[in-house]
Amino acid sequence: MDKIKDLVLLGATGSIGEQTITVCSNNDIVIKAIAFGKNISKALEIIKTCKPEFVCAFSAKEAVDLSNNLELLGFDLSNLEIGYGEEGLKKAISYSHNIVNAITGIAGLKPTVWSIEQGKNLMLANKESLVVGGELINKLAKEYKVNIIPIDSEHNAIYRLVKNNKSEISKLIITASGGSFRNKSRDELVNITVSDALNHPNWSMGKKITIDSATMANKGLEVIEAHYLFNIDYDNIETIIHPESIIHSMVEYNDNSVGAILYSPSMIIPIQDAILNKYDKTEVAKLNFNKIKSLNFIEMDFNRFPLLKLAYFVGEKGGLYPTVYNASNEAAVELFLEEKISFLDIEKIVTDAVKEFDSKYNNINNICCYTIEDIIKTDIEVKERIKEVYK
Ligand code: NDP
Ligand code: MG
Repeated sequence: MDKIKDLVLLGATGSIGEQTITVCSNNDIVIKAIAFGKNISKALEIIKTCKPEFVCAFSAKEAVDLSNNLELLGFDLSNLEIGYGEEGLKKAISYSHNIVNAITGIAGLKPTVWSIEQGKNLMLANKESLVVGGELINKLAKEYKVNIIPIDSEHNAIYRLVKNNKSEISKLIITASGGSFRNKSRDELVNITVSDALNHPNWSMGKKITIDSATMANKGLEVIEAHYLFNIDYDNIETIIHPESIIHSMVEYNDNSVGAILYSPSMIIPIQDAILNKYDKTEVAKLNFNKIKSLNFIEMDFNRFPLLKLAYFVGEKGGLYPTVYNASNEAAVELFLEEKISFLDIEKIVTDAVKEFDSKYNNINNICCYTIEDIIKTDIEVKERIKEVYK
């Protein structure tokens, strides 16, 4: 594969977006187009430094705000086009063969689909699109001969380990830091505040994924993501708490040997690996095993982390079940961040939403006959119902 010269960055104003910009600037990769949501000041900064040809904002309002701000700053707008919404995202994707999708949540689903339909080289951080649409995305990827390269650190590690020998794998072992409250019992979670939950011990990430790490829903989403990326049964996907976040997942081979990828917690390595497809130099600190001395593992407790157990259930069920899990989780996390519900309510809301869906559709085979539009419709319905109850 030739070295990538340019790419499009969706979700440029986020945590993965920012680190992708670092990787691009360290490797002379041109960012031809960006997409962002609502963070105008961050978008302005990126436009000034990266000088993309096209920028897509969330809606017309942000596009106008951005344009006004650029004019006020005396920015030369003759080489920059600004778009917004779905049309803008589609147009952004057309600017390069290489797409990094680092949008958060289900908003990343359509851009994933459009990237595949345009036959792009897709580097995917947005795990939610695979969780809700894995079945359909895999079919599309096959049809358009697109290889999806994972950026999520666990999946990127597994991707490196299984590149040449998928058939020789007996099990995936996905590591979890345990999130902000790994040492707390369920009783101690009752009065958790938003700032407690955002204080992750090992990683600095966007708010949604930080809360997902604390509830272990993130690991649940990652189990489903791994199932679709590596076409492996849920029975053969294990999760384990590894508090140091130095091992970024493991692969057990048929001969019972295990491969692992280790590095200091940093997303620069998986982002760069996905973009360059080689282990090139980074500024990430080297591991010093004399200092580290020991690595720890704690058996996953599914009673302590019921959302992880529920993810296996919805994953096994397939169809629209993962969409219900993801939608209710997104809605609940938003309510928690707005301080409208307690931390433990997140679990309750997701569990109730899945139970409700299951009681309605348990006997209906929804695996083979649903579309991307059905996913979006279900997502909206689930979120609206939750918002109605907790408004
Ligand atoms: P952030 O919240 O930091 O960033 C999200 C990005 O998506 C922002 O640029 C945001 O724009 C943009 N965005 C949100 N909604 C929309 C929308 N409707 N249309 C267009 N853009 C939108 O998230 P992270 O960077 O932490 O995570 C991004 C993805 O990567 C997630 O799926 C996450 O699970 C995954 N991931 C993240 C890791 C990490 O270390 N952060 C690790 C592994 C995976 P704006 O802010 O301008 O509104
Ligand atoms: Mg991860």
